[in-house]
Amino acid sequence: MATPLTADALVAALKAEGVRVVEHPGWRTHNRNHKGPWGPVNGVIIHHTVTSGTASSVEMCFNGYDELPGPLCHGVIAKDGTVHLVGNGRANHAGKGDGSVLNAVVRESALPRPTANDTDGNTRFYGFECVNLGDGADPWPAAQLAAIERVSAAVCRAHGWSAASVIGHKEWTNNKIDPRGFSMADMRSRVAGRLKGEPSGGDGSGEHDGSAGAGTYTVRPGDTLSSIADAFHTTVEALMALNGITDPDRIQAGQTLKIPGADTPRYAPFPGEDFFRNAPRSPLVTAMGRRLVAEGCSAYEEGPGPQWSDADRESFRKWQRKLGDAPEYCDGWPGRRQWDALQVPYTA
Ligand SMILES: [Zn+2]
Repeated sequence: MATPLTADALVAALKAEGVRVVEHPGWRTHNRNHKGPWGPVNGVIIHHTVTSGTASSVEMCFNGYDELPGPLCHGVIAKDGTVHLVGNGRANHAGKGDGSVLNAVVRESALPRPTANDTDGNTRFYGFECVNLGDGADPWPAAQLAAIERVSAAVCRAHGWSAASVIGHKEWTNNKIDPRGFSMADMRSRVAGRLKGEPSGGDGSGEHDGSAGAGTYTVRPGDTLSSIADAFHTTVEALMALNGITDPDRIQAGQTLKIPGADTPRYAPFPGEDFFRNAPRSPLVTAMGRRLVAEGCSAYEEGPGPQWSDADRESFRKWQRKLGDAPEYCDGWPGRRQWDALQVPYTA
């Protein structure tokens, strides 16, 4: 149980944890406090927006809509990991949920499955909306998942809570499915791991915004070059070149890496092999197709377009052959190394 953080305290906690924060105009006085109490607070609820596009998602979460006025959360976590603050105070995000879940969060004990919808969550929980369509196919980039971890840890650390205070909307009430596409149990273990250490915003990873030239990042235990590349929308190859690394498996915790800045092209991180096998409809597919055409690997009769198709797979197969890969790696399904080599431009 705790008194809600002030706007300044929330911003400071997020920045200390390495979160890239954008303060949406008006957020500091934007709330639903005239409709009900805000606090004492006990935890954090993670949501997905069922929208795409950062700007429009942020606007929707600030303004709300006819049936549900904004703010619809405290912060919006974009696909690139940026966090846009839209509300300070009571927000329309949690609605009614199960009082026994609240009790478990207060005790920081195992969560029961929600059945009753008898308790107002907007009083007791911070809410963060993550930009995702929630269709099971829209990817969760590593940078966005890292931001969820950092935001959750920042709030928990500021209040002295454990990771057990972070729940998904679907764990609060049985009439929601969000967030869909990653495991809240896994996220809690990430948050717990982060809370064991000091806040890690001071290593430059949080300040890096791609606009101020090259930044630096201090390697943490468990990092790989590809996880770092994902988090900064760059490639393993670019990191190796910039840092003079010859063996990508030989990086050490505590080592400082230069991160490509605005003068270096930024590339879309590999969305995972399952992404393509789920026949996605995504701007990423269009961007990939354009790169394949530019590389002379087109099997398109029309397009490329956003809907993954056999022509995309055939075109990618041509790319795999162009890379000189062995036949068993030329199946048309993008692999991480092949994807990184293609250097698909990053689109927010
Ligand atoms: Zn929700």
